[in-house]
Amino acid sequence: MEVLFLGTGTSHGIPKIACKCEVCTSTDSKNKRDRASVLIQMGDKNVLVDTGPDLRHQAIRWDVDRVDAVLYTHTHADHLFGLDDLRAFSSRQQSSIPCYCSPKTSARIRHVFDYVFQLQHLGFGIPQIQLIEFTGPFDVFGNEIVPVHVIHGKTEVFGFRIGKFAYITDCKEIPVTSMAMLEDLDVLVLGALRWEPEHWIHMTIPESLDVVAELRPGKTYLTHMMHTVEHTETNRKLPENVQLAYDGLVVKV
Ligand SMILES: [Zn+2]
Ligand SMILES: [Zn+2]
Ligand SMILES: [Zn+2]
Repeated sequence: MEVLFLGTGTSHGIPKIACKCEVCTSTDSKNKRDRASVLIQMGDKNVLVDTGPDLRHQAIRWDVDRVDAVLYTHTHADHLFGLDDLRAFSSRQQSSIPCYCSPKTSARIRHVFDYVFQLQHLGFGIPQIQLIEFTGPFDVFGNEIVPVHVIHGKTEVFGFRIGKFAYITDCKEIPVTSMAMLEDLDVLVLGALRWEPEHWIHMTIPESLDVVAELRPGKTYLTHMMHTVEHTETNRKLPENVQLAYDGLVVKV
């Protein structure tokens, strides 16, 4: 399995519109972060996690030529609003794309993207997708996907464990039952917004490091960082087995 980071930024993306701070004006490509998403290559299948507003740009930039399935973490705009761009893939592949999500996420997607599910629009430039609701572990192309519930304000969010890999973006707290599902990982991807101050729905870097200290995965990549997090300087301060992810990073699991 290979994981390609399509985006590692928080909801604004980095650079943030009109911001002239050190990170937003940095020429280091690792300080440029699209909205958070990963592409997981399972054999010859591409499984996308979330469809953020940067999806079109990400697909072109990283030469993604097919999407065989999508996993949704939650419905915040920075994880969902590129859904319409799935039509480039469904029309190219001449097939409907299975999109796995929780029942709550499914209801929200049907509301926000109502036109996608209206029969009269079939075939007229809309993405061909099928929402498949999960209520427990499910199979995607022969891989068991384990949804891991985490707490992110009032919005229901799931991370995903696949074998020895887990991906958790937007999260303030991991319940005890979910922590138990994240033991013995080779690679953990975990959201970390900034050093300080604390945020009510996202973990800061120190809070994420506390989780890492408890779970002790082989390697951890932090994601969903905001523009106060400078790549090189931050990596220097992190423990050896924890690094910031960056757009374009490929991790083999
Ligand atoms: Zn987010
Ligand atoms: Zn900035
Ligand atoms: Zn969110």
